[in-house]
Amino acid sequence: MTTHWFFWLFLAFFILHELWENGLVLLNIAHTKKHAGEIPSFYRDKIEPDRYAKSIAYTIDKARIGLVVSFIAIPILWAAIFSGFFDSLDLRLSSLIPAGSLTRSTAYCAVVGLIGIILKIPVSLYSNFVLEAKYGFNKMTAKTFAADFFKELFLSALLGIPLLYLIFWLYAQTGPVWWLWAFGALFGFQFFVAAVYPVWLAPLFNKFTPLAEGELKASILALAKNIRFKLSGIFTIDGSKRSGHSNAYFAGMGRMRRIVLFDTLTEQMTNREILSVLAHEMGHNIKKHVVKYLIYSFFYALAGFAVLGRVIDWEPLFSAFRAGPPAPHKALVLFGLFAGYFTFWLTPLWNAISRRHEYEADRFSVETTKDKEGMTQALLKLSKENLSNLTPHPLYSFCHYSHPTTLERIQAINRDY
Ligand SMILES: [Zn+2]
Repeated sequence: MTTHWFFWLFLAFFILHELWENGLVLLNIAHTKKHAGEIPSFYRDKIEPDRYAKSIAYTIDKARIGLVVSFIAIPILWAAIFSGFFDSLDLRLSSLIPAGSLTRSTAYCAVVGLIGIILKIPVSLYSNFVLEAKYGFNKMTAKTFAADFFKELFLSALLGIPLLYLIFWLYAQTGPVWWLWAFGALFGFQFFVAAVYPVWLAPLFNKFTPLAEGELKASILALAKNIRFKLSGIFTIDGSKRSGHSNAYFAGMGRMRRIVLFDTLTEQMTNREILSVLAHEMGHNIKKHVVKYLIYSFFYALAGFAVLGRVIDWEPLFSAFRAGPPAPHKALVLFGLFAGYFTFWLTPLWNAISRRHEYEADRFSVETTKDKEGMTQALLKLSKENLSNLTPHPLYSFCHYSHPTTLERIQAINRDY
């Protein structure tokens, strides 16, 4: 039996991906180590030597764990392919559930998804209870970890299983343009989840407390009013229950749009700094970044479904991954697992777009609050408290960073004003 070119193409993309990604991480580790001896001049009077050393150690530890995980994942992935796992799982299910039924297709995807979730448990345990704990970030107890795990599992099943049923039903009912219907269903579904997330889902994981009346709340409301930003509530959440990392975000749409501040953020920052951060977040909305991102991902996902529509019964896809005879559920799983090796090369483009948006949001924040110093201090605090890498390799940050580095952002603020 000759091997189809598609297998070789995938293999080439796979090898390139591993070489490039792991090579880039090694490059970044070397670059970070090289700068370990001396604090970059810009930060010299802004960060304590201890904290700088800690940020370097944290960066390197995190990178090393990433390398280990990626080296363990390679043999697991290829063992699954060469052992014919994607076919044998289907055969095993066939003794339980009749072929061609929606239940069988859904069960196949659910089992693969469950295996993926189980395989990630050790990584997640290690990263929380060893790595993050070592640097004082982890605040999670074993109980919270277990509760999170089961809640996430339950929600994935509750939302994912009906969606899979719907997709396989559309495949069976709508003929050659099934992928267009499936795309519509998935996009509508994601829209729905994004809309209800802050009100229905997020409270399952965190306690939401309306921000107390006071100076901070009054100034946030004044800022929102000033730029005509509609919102339905300002909340703080107990982010400190899991991690010392700090954050703030907007979630939901229309009437359900909320500002959410992590308690870790309100503890670390002054009101002035929090206001600058929120003005930045509002900037993403006012400058239409959210809408733009939605439009890009709309077309990106549409293209993805068009490809899926073509390969769903394409024999070489199944033979490349030793998956037996073509079936829609196998195609969906193979596509989900392996398409990323081809599309991975677009991530620098996504990140470049995102970084441009970050600069625009920073600029918006400084223009509306008229407080260059507030934004500068907020950025410095965020990077210090989170032990961000202050000296990433430029190629690494170009490919991986969705945000410009703190130094780049502070320089941009000071250049423009
Ligand atoms: Zn931003």
